[in-house]
Amino acid sequence: MSKLRPIFVLPELKENQEWACEHGCTVHRTRLHRHVYSQQWDKQGNLVKELAETYYTCQRGHLLAVWDEKECDLIELDEKYYTDPNQQPTNFIDGFIASGGFDRVMGCKNGE
Ligand SMILES: [Zn+2]
Repeated sequence: MSKLRPIFVLPELKENQEWACEHGCTVHRTRLHRHVYSQQWDKQGNLVKELAETYYTCQRGHLLAVWDEKECDLIELDEKYYTDPNQQPTNFIDGFIASGGFDRVMGCKNGE
């Protein structure tokens, strides 16, 4: 089996298709899973920034794939289903620059 990718947009399954879990769970219902991959706290310990993505999993949080009975195999979905609609790369870059990302990367010390 090729490596599964997170499904961000839920496709409409056809009659001959059903959900398959990467770990073999029986999937009756999909679950929206929130995966936090970056957090930033201020000096007081308050969470000031959190980057997360939400994608669909089985009820136990495993990645999903679509099994097609006609193909007798897992099928690759259209690219749009693997794209997070809330996390466009340009927004991420803008946020990175706004938070002084490049200054930190380049080691600038403004006014110090
Ligand atoms: Zn599972």
